[in-house]
Amino acid sequence: MGVLRRINQDDLRNHNLSVTLDTLLRAQEPMSRADLAKTTGLTKATMSLLVSMLLEHGVIEEGTPAASAAFGRPSTPLVVRGGRFCGIGLQINTDGYGCLALDLNGDTLGREWVSADMTGTDPYDIFAKLDAMTFPLESRLKRRGCTVVGSGLALPGLVTEDMRLLVARNLDWENIDLTRFNVVRRLDAMGGNEAKMAALAQIPGYATERANFLNVVNRTDSFIYLSTDIGIGGAVVRDGEVVSGVQGFAGEVGHISVSMDGPVCGCGRHGCLECFAGRRAMIEAAGLAEGDAVTGSEALERFLQGWRGGDPVVAGVVDRAVDALVSAIASAINLCDIDTVLLGGLWTYFGDELASVLGGRLRSEVLGSPERQVRVFVPPVAEHPALYGAAEMGLRRFIDDPLHFMPEA
Ligand SMILES: [Zn+2]
Repeated sequence: MGVLRRINQDDLRNHNLSVTLDTLLRAQEPMSRADLAKTTGLTKATMSLLVSMLLEHGVIEEGTPAASAAFGRPSTPLVVRGGRFCGIGLQINTDGYGCLALDLNGDTLGREWVSADMTGTDPYDIFAKLDAMTFPLESRLKRRGCTVVGSGLALPGLVTEDMRLLVARNLDWENIDLTRFNVVRRLDAMGGNEAKMAALAQIPGYATERANFLNVVNRTDSFIYLSTDIGIGGAVVRDGEVVSGVQGFAGEVGHISVSMDGPVCGCGRHGCLECFAGRRAMIEAAGLAEGDAVTGSEALERFLQGWRGGDPVVAGVVDRAVDALVSAIASAINLCDIDTVLLGGLWTYFGDELASVLGGRLRSEVLGSPERQVRVFVPPVAEHPALYGAAEMGLRRFIDDPLHFMPEA
């Protein structure tokens, strides 16, 4: 130390802009300058200056003043403007790959998705296809004057902070340096586990204006998110932020063991949740497909038909999977002390009824029952949520460092 630290005015302004933007995004109702000053604790004069900057750069716009005020000037609501800044989400998953552009007000500006069985594909080939898919989207955004501020890349595996995919067992990919791919370098994409990104997409106001219909959780709520497909991923969200852990691998609910003498999981452990409630495991147990066909969409369709039609074999497999889900989720709840669970991915096909059955059964499995309330929901963003979360991760770059994208004239 020994160096006298002084307040840097630009840093302070950047921080204040970021807090203002965050406050606007999470607001349940449009806010005026006075509302923003009150909520953030900044003076009205400072807020007026910050709002002018945001207006000038097209980040926000003024809405129609409310005429309800009994006296004085009606206040002007400020709303986040769409189409000026956006994030791009990239995803490679077990069921396909795609890209999506999302702007600050939550509008989708473009989206492409190719459904395909991705197990055993060549990463170079898939990243080249993703690049060819994303480049025209970027060109379209540029033509309409929309700046891409950041990008996220969601993968179904363990991704390190220095952008290495350690392993994605359900793709048969391992130890890949992600920075060698053009699309990753061009967009400076931040890589991450798909379940964590899918969890981000469920947080209203995380990086886009809060949508009123998303009322399952709030911006600063805590919840456990399960992403179920061929395998099972998970994320723990505490106070509105994804818990990453020392290596970034926290929240892997799918690899909680529910049976010490159960089948050997792809991760090497015995009896992981994924071995009972993952898509591959359930379709194999129901005897509906073998080999490569196990992960195909046809086998899944037959499985769901069997379940809806009351096929006793399929019903038995689902019952066993529900037992495993109850056991693993209860362990996660007891470990994290978080009472809200969002059950995403494959299990959303089983609907709200199954979610309420799970919620009921969990109540007797968690510490502190019966007083403790456990809530299980089908998540509000259920279709390709990781693609939205990845785009939101990109948008956070703008929200965390707005001055970088708003150079002063
Ligand atoms: Zn495992």
